[in-house]
Amino acid sequence: MENTITGHTRLTALFATPIRHSVSPMIHNTAFQALGIDAVYLAFEIGTDGLERAIDSIKNLEMMGANLSMPNKILAVDYMDELSEAARLIGAVNTITIDQGKLTGHNTDGTGFMRSLKDIEVDIIDKKMTIIGAGGAATAIIVQAALDGVKEITVYNRKDEFYEKIKEKLAYISENTNCIITLHELSDENSLAKDVAESALLLNATGVGMKPLEKQTPIQDFSIIRPDLAVCDVIYTPRETEFLKQARLRGAKTNNGLGMLLYQGAAAFEKWTGQEMPIEVVKPIIE
Ligand code: NAD
Repeated sequence: MENTITGHTRLTALFATPIRHSVSPMIHNTAFQALGIDAVYLAFEIGTDGLERAIDSIKNLEMMGANLSMPNKILAVDYMDELSEAARLIGAVNTITIDQGKLTGHNTDGTGFMRSLKDIEVDIIDKKMTIIGAGGAATAIIVQAALDGVKEITVYNRKDEFYEKIKEKLAYISENTNCIITLHELSDENSLAKDVAESALLLNATGVGMKPLEKQTPIQDFSIIRPDLAVCDVIYTPRETEFLKQARLRGAKTNNGLGMLLYQGAAAFEKWTGQEMPIEVVKPIIE
């Protein structure tokens, strides 16, 4: 392997735990190499205890920036000098940029998801969407969809701790955007059927469909799926969840979470380098 690391090479990094399974180093290092950018991306096993020191090192080591994943996205908000509008509304940061010593926290998970819709030629601007889930991934997508101009979002979640926590947050997001957002119980199948009938997109943003719940689906009645409905999943392992499979069999356009993963990385890359990630080079390595 040719050594391309020099005294000028800049560092970008991911601070998260667990981290060794992450494909982000592959994504970013492939993109750096393809564009001849003198930088590397490394994964550091960092939990909330070490987060403040890790974030300090972005300044101290004059890094280009960093990504954050579990369990650091919410806590990192406290350590930022500024927040993007999306990061502020979501209350979580997955990308940090640095400009003249000032750290700005961004959240590119939602933009990643919105961009992934272009791959299946689906446009939900000015339309209604229904999303199952109210955790971190769901919140990021709800905020970005609302900022981008989705007209109405109906959120369905089971009555657990997420349900209670998200109530106020959804009201806050709705007040700060032009989007009508309502929360419903996932067990209310009649209401779900009515909202899906009015929606252009149905999205699963829960872990239902991946291990250890890989046989399960977030909805039970698939008669609500129609061919002109787009159906997406944030899960990408397996590539096709049972939910996506059932939707596909009913003629819906479907998309898994790989696009969201890829494009959240692309958005971070573009913020750090000012250059577009070469998607055609990067995509095959994660497919
Ligand atoms: P989270 O823990 O913040 O939220 C979990 C959500 O799932 C909550 O709404 C919870 O109520 C719901 N839930 C959990 N078990 C359920 C069940 N049995 N039935 C119904 N609802 C249930 O998690 P998160 O960070 O939002 O992640 C959710 C999923 O999104 C995970 O599968 C994760 O891998 C995926 N994800 C994908 C990407 C991507 O880039 N594609 C990014 C982030 C997260």
